[in-house]
Amino acid sequence: MDTYGRFPLELVRGRGVWVWDRAGKRYLDCVAGIAVNTLGHSDRSLRRALGAQLGRLQHVSNLYRIPEQEQLATAIAERSCFDRVFFCNSGAEANEAAIKLARKHGHSVRGIPSEQAPLILTAQASFHGRTLAAVTATGQPKYHQGFEPMVQGFRYFPYNDIAAFEALLADCEAPGPRVAAVLLEPLQGEGGVIPGDPAFFARVRQLCDQHGILLIFDEVQIGVGRSGRLWGYQRLGVEPDAITLAKGLGGGFPIGALAVKASADHFKPGEHASTFGGNPMACRAGLTVLEQLERRALLPHVERMGTLLQQLLGELVARHSGLLVATRGWGLLQGLVLRADAAVTAPELVKAALDQGLLLVPAGPTVVRFVPPLVIQPRHLRRAVASFERAVLTLTRSPRS
Ligand code: PLP
Repeated sequence: MDTYGRFPLELVRGRGVWVWDRAGKRYLDCVAGIAVNTLGHSDRSLRRALGAQLGRLQHVSNLYRIPEQEQLATAIAERSCFDRVFFCNSGAEANEAAIKLARKHGHSVRGIPSEQAPLILTAQASFHGRTLAAVTATGQPKYHQGFEPMVQGFRYFPYNDIAAFEALLADCEAPGPRVAAVLLEPLQGEGGVIPGDPAFFARVRQLCDQHGILLIFDEVQIGVGRSGRLWGYQRLGVEPDAITLAKGLGGGFPIGALAVKASADHFKPGEHASTFGGNPMACRAGLTVLEQLERRALLPHVERMGTLLQQLLGELVARHSGLLVATRGWGLLQGLVLRADAAVTAPELVKAALDQGLLLVPAGPTVVRFVPPLVIQPRHLRRAVASFERAVLTLTRSPRS
């Protein structure tokens, strides 16, 4: 079905940070399947681990114990503040699980009557996926249009705005306990690469604690090392009660997860499930990604590469101040922000970069996003920024008279 506005490109092969189209043209991949290919393309450790897993056991039902799933849950728990994990296949599904968990918390812990929808507060400009509850959680009306009525029980506030959040919470709670959870991205990705403000998040944490409200972070895009820390919440210094993961966790193999603290583990057998979720292949992929992040010391590497990319993009902003205003982000999720009155849009720049052999992705009409594999090296970053500058020049040079 015609659900994607696609670029005119057909990719057939990849290796490391490079991909090739059918005609043999090579592209530097600063999209990584939109923050998915943590270890780059066709990574040797993933090829070996998944090949061996396929030869051993590919899929069994969650009716039975799955050792790879237990190992991955343990690996996540040992490296985070969480104790239990539910596995699914995508970010939207992980958020659906979180929303169901929030509703249970609302009814069973906060005492919200079963005929009332427990409220979930989310941010404007957020992105949480395309399934019906996840898209309702997404605070962007353009994604709701044509699919009404939306799911009950969501309220929105401006991201990083303490006063607005406090006012909404007070309003929702005035008649008695109504709010089950607050769902937030530590850094808004699709919404324009907007990092969370630690002071805002600390206050939200405090208010959630005061009311017994669950604080859930959507780390589908920023989690698993992309920020330079394993988890985005570590950049904010605020521990949520639960996080959702997907994208980078499988390094290109589909997997999603909801990780929770023991105090937020409200599911009982039979209340939530997934046929494919946490199968041996997906969990082997996740285990390999977590192992390789450590073996190759990729977290400090992402920190260094993020600093370099920010510096290179900052210099670019200074050279093209008529078009660009700033760069912002954490680690290897950086957004280059166009001037509000720029004559070109982010999608036009991305298209022009494609012609220069560089893959990038917009985050809205005025932000160009750089989300390369975490294994990217300084020479690739320099090349990416040089190619992007050529793209800028092709669009901004005045035509010859
Ligand atoms: N949450 C965030 C923060 C995302 O960036 C995305 C996808 O871009 C999703 C959820 C949805 O993930 P998926 O496309 O795997 O359903």
